[in-house]
Amino acid sequence: MSKNCTLEEIAALLLAQDKLVLCPHVSPDGDALGSTLALKMALEKAGKKVTVMVDDDVPKAFGFLPQIDCFVKPADGEVLEADLLVVLDASSLDRIGKVAQSVKAKAVANIDHHISNTQFADYLYLNTEAAATAEILCNLVEKLGIKLDKYLATCLYTGIYTDCGSFRYANTTPGTMRAAAKLLEYGARPNEISDALGTNTRANIEMLGKVLQTLAFYNDGKISTLEINSDLYDKDVNTDNFISFARYIEGVDVAVLFKAVEPAVTRVSMRSQDTDVAAIALSFGGGGHIRAAGCTVELPLEQAKAKVLEAIGKAL
Ligand code: AMP
Ligand code: MN
Ligand code: MN
Repeated sequence: MSKNCTLEEIAALLLAQDKLVLCPHVSPDGDALGSTLALKMALEKAGKKVTVMVDDDVPKAFGFLPQIDCFVKPADGEVLEADLLVVLDASSLDRIGKVAQSVKAKAVANIDHHISNTQFADYLYLNTEAAATAEILCNLVEKLGIKLDKYLATCLYTGIYTDCGSFRYANTTPGTMRAAAKLLEYGARPNEISDALGTNTRANIEMLGKVLQTLAFYNDGKISTLEINSDLYDKDVNTDNFISFARYIEGVDVAVLFKAVEPAVTRVSMRSQDTDVAAIALSFGGGGHIRAAGCTVELPLEQAKAKVLEAIGKAL
């Protein structure tokens, strides 16, 4: 169980440390990277020594984020000592991969917005109403007494923009919009961020063409699926937005993307209109939000698909 903190308490905790390691979840998305970089910049302005670490490659699509090259990977056998490990946008310890073993911190803090949060940290700020961890950070930076600038604003806007589906998802609230508006005042450029994120590589579109051919429907069209099998899978191709093609189809409640990341390991992404997909993901050891969740199933794609479809069928 964590100590559930207010934002003021988290700010005071952060300011009381000298050396901090910040880390987001593996398979980092815009919110994970943007939140981590923004907190790094804010804490450095407060005179702290900060390392940002992620147990994964940083997708090239986020190359436009300021200071993106600062991320280091945990190295086998090397231990980094710190006063505090701050885990961002991750709801359980397994979501940070090897960082959990590589950082020896006196305490762990977690800033998150996932309903599936497992209360693994010593100190937790959890706000499941926030559209993004970056929305929380927008308010936290103020509590830290740090002035926003265009670099912080760019990172935070990217986190918000990506997690609320460009302000289209149900998690978009007046608070989300207010945070985004403030970030624009401090110099975030919405067109530049949207262009940077929306520009596809040729490989990306070529793969999309192949993946769309796998589109299938189940349970009277209430479930739609897309598949990336081992032959198609390429870790260097960003497939984050593929699932939206399965999601926005008349009559579809739950859209699922199955990705064979290894012959017997399948990554599953789910999006829904009504059904609680966080609960389904949680039952497979994953997590997420009611309308956007994911899990990794240690089975070949076809077997993983059969199990997940059965679980969704029951939940509809
Ligand atoms: P994705 O489908 O990967 O875009 O993820 C959708 C949401 O579910 C995001 O908020 C992720 O952080 C979360 N999520 C995805 N995979 C997992 C997992 N294995 N465990 C916990 N949360 C996850
Ligand atoms: Mn995330
Ligand atoms: Mn998030």
